[in-house]
Amino acid sequence: MAHSTSQPAVTVVIPIFNEEPVLPELLARLTAVFDQNPGVKWDALLVDDGSRDGSAALIRTHGSRDPRFALIELSRNFGFQAALAAGLAHAGGTAVVTMDADLQDPPECIPEMVAQWRDGAEVVRAVRRSRQETGSRRFGMNVFHGLFNRISDYPIEANTGTFGLLDRVAVDAMNRLPERHRFFPGMRSWVGFATTEIYYDRQQRAAGQPQQSMKRLARYAFDGVFGFSYLPLRLLTYTGLTIGTAGFVLGLYYVIKRLINIETAPTGFTTLAALVLFLGGVQFIGIGVLGEYLARVYDEVKERPLYLIKRGPTR
Ligand code: UDP
Ligand code: MG
Repeated sequence: MAHSTSQPAVTVVIPIFNEEPVLPELLARLTAVFDQNPGVKWDALLVDDGSRDGSAALIRTHGSRDPRFALIELSRNFGFQAALAAGLAHAGGTAVVTMDADLQDPPECIPEMVAQWRDGAEVVRAVRRSRQETGSRRFGMNVFHGLFNRISDYPIEANTGTFGLLDRVAVDAMNRLPERHRFFPGMRSWVGFATTEIYYDRQQRAAGQPQQSMKRLARYAFDGVFGFSYLPLRLLTYTGLTIGTAGFVLGLYYVIKRLINIETAPTGFTTLAALVLFLGGVQFIGIGVLGEYLARVYDEVKERPLYLIKRGPTR
């Protein structure tokens, strides 16, 4: 195996979107990790996802002083998952570490992942022992993880995100997944390989604001659900069957009543109105769910690239 050679190469891939406030600390702490672990040939690949602040310039300057830091600039903001895909596609290492820029994922955990990798792990997932998000963000994340693992055919460890390490075999496998709606933890579960975990405490964002809006996170959650489960479609079928059966039984009941001549008073308007509204609602939900899948099919057949590179990778 390649990673049993004396000096394995590890690339750290980090998507960057308007992270200027946090970059100096990120670069310093990464450099410290690199320098304290000379047994590994390190490099970092930062993917600028169309930042509107000075992030790209700052990274470029840093890279001209320390060639271990390379930069890819995307032509606009394509989103976290696309930036991550760009990084994975261009990372040169025998193993690749994926992490957020905001130091919620502490770089000091990387050597532990590398140790597990050198012991034979092909996928190392970093599991959050605790998380710092609060309020609706946290609630949403908990609900999502609970739901996802119930319905997905490829369960993900609750409390894992993108932070982790992939051996070259797993990186190549991830790069072969062409889907536009990417959900990293699900894809990582899908590719398989020898998987282990490390545990860490999720940190507060070191500086700046979260760059993923609630809307983006919700969309990401939808990509997870619709990308890895047919349950929403199946639920529709079940709902249809249930309502259909109920309707049939009810109809039969009225016919029999009529036949044996127990006269029925005309049933109420309220009942009818409620039934019509209920069925109308169910049908619209059904159309919506179909639409979610259809829109994704449409996005796939367009075969647009996941991202466009403006410049890079520098080195
Ligand atoms: N990010 C990105 N493109 C975007 C939004 C975010 O590359 O459009 C990066 C961001 O710079 C950070 C990572 O994705 O490195 C996670 O973003 P953030 O911390 O804002 O999200 P959260 O912590 O809520 O998942
Ligand atoms: Mg964050």
